[in-house]
Order: sequence, then C-alpha cells, then structure tokens
Amino acid sequence: MGRQVLSAAPRGRGGRALERSHVIEINGSEVALVLRHSARRTFALQVDHRGARVAVPHGTPLAAVEHFVRGHGDWLLRKLDNRQRTMAAMRFVPEDGARFPLLGTTARVRTGLAGRSARWCVDVDGVEELHLPGAGGSAALLRALRNRAIAWFRGRVEEYCLRLGQSAPRVGLSSARTRWGSCSRHGGIRLHWRLIHLEPALIDYVVAHEVAHLLEMNHSPRFWSVVESLYPNWHEARRRLRAQGAELPLITMNEQPPISDEE
Ligand SMILES: [Zn+2]
Repeated sequence: MGRQVLSAAPRGRGGRALERSHVIEINGSEVALVLRHSARRTFALQVDHRGARVAVPHGTPLAAVEHFVRGHGDWLLRKLDNRQRTMAAMRFVPEDGARFPLLGTTARVRTGLAGRSARWCVDVDGVEELHLPGAGGSAALLRALRNRAIAWFRGRVEEYCLRLGQSAPRVGLSSARTRWGSCSRHGGIRLHWRLIHLEPALIDYVVAHEVAHLLEMNHSPRFWSVVESLYPNWHEARRRLRAQGAELPLITMNEQPPISDEE
C-alpha cells in the first residue's frame, strides 16, 4: 500500500530481528506501529494490511526512530486513514438481503432461518440464496462458504488430474495470507477458501496451476508449459485474479486483503 525509505543509517550489527509494538504521537494522534530492529542498513516505513511497520537497523535509538516516523507523519496518517476506509468498505455484514459474490455471480443472504445449520437454495428469481440460522452471523456464513468451497475444489482438482493422467491428491482448504494455492508431495493441494467467490474459470486457473505442480514442483519453463497445456489462457487469468482477488468482501475481520499471489 505504500512505503517510505531513507538510506543514511549506520551499518547494522548482525543477529536476530526483534519486533515489538510501539505507540507514537503524530500531530495529536496516537499511532500504533510495529517496530522491527534487524540487520538491515536503512530505515523503512510501511503501511500494509497489518498496519504501520517501521524497520530500522539494530541499535537504532528510539528517538531516532521517532524522528524518522514523524518526518513522514502526514504520509503515514493519510495511508492509515485510507487503509481504515478500505477495510470498512470491504467488511461484509451478513444481514437479510445482503449480496456477496459466489462463483462469479451474486448470491444473497437470508437470515432468521429456524434450526442450527445453514442451507443453500435458489430463489424464484433465480438468485442463489444462503439461508442462515438466526444467531449464525459471520461464523455460519464462513462455515457455509468453506463447505461450498471444498466440494467445488475437489471436483475441479479431479477434473484437471484426469486431463493430466495423474491420480488426484488430497485437497484441503487454506486461509494463507499471500497464496491462493499450494501443492506439496506430502500435503497435497491446498486452495484458499475465498476463491469460491470468483468465477469458475479463475478458480480453474489456480487449480490447473497447482495440478501442474504434481508434475513439476517448481516454476521452470517446463512447469509453465504444463500449465499452458491445461489452461492456455493463463496469462489473462493470472492478471484478472490479481485484480479481482483484491476486491473480495471481508467475511471475518481477520481475513485480510489483498491476497496477491497464486503460487
Ligand atoms: Zn506455483
């Protein structure tokens, strides 16, 4: 989301990085940030989905850190404010009638259902609905989406494995911060549950990518030619995944945008 770098620091000592939280006052506002001392040589100030972070060389006195941060105070406050607004706008509240993306179309929440479990139905207008039990809220929505996701992903992994003449590995869900999927010999294929919001063709791209790793556990040209054979339009899909992935609703507060990499 943004970064300010200043190089003019003395050479740092080696050793482990140390992180702690620190609160600094800037123009009358208290700003919480993570302060990281490490073997780097420069100062860096960054705002990402986790908040504000300042990285400095080992041994940098607090006064010097604060001087650096205050020097970029206006920039920092503006970035934090933007982040706050972006996150508030993306937060999804599962109230009756609220719409959310599902497999590239729009689905609708219905609340007040009796009983304890959520149920998927299609309304008379053709819109898919998720009926949530009375007190279900975000937790019930999350559970329903994860169930929907794993069922869909298993089918798609089987399909792509069949095309590649491979037997389908174990498929699991992930909620990793930075990856849409992963593949390992022992762990099988894991796919991020939030992919279920996206259109099937984009989910297929991530599936094809991970299935291709069953043959090539790397990102070599040979790997990409396997991807190409499974999913010829992968360049375009990868680009769209980056754009659309950053705009998914936030179902729970600890889901953080953006997820920007599909590997
Ligand atoms: Zn990969």
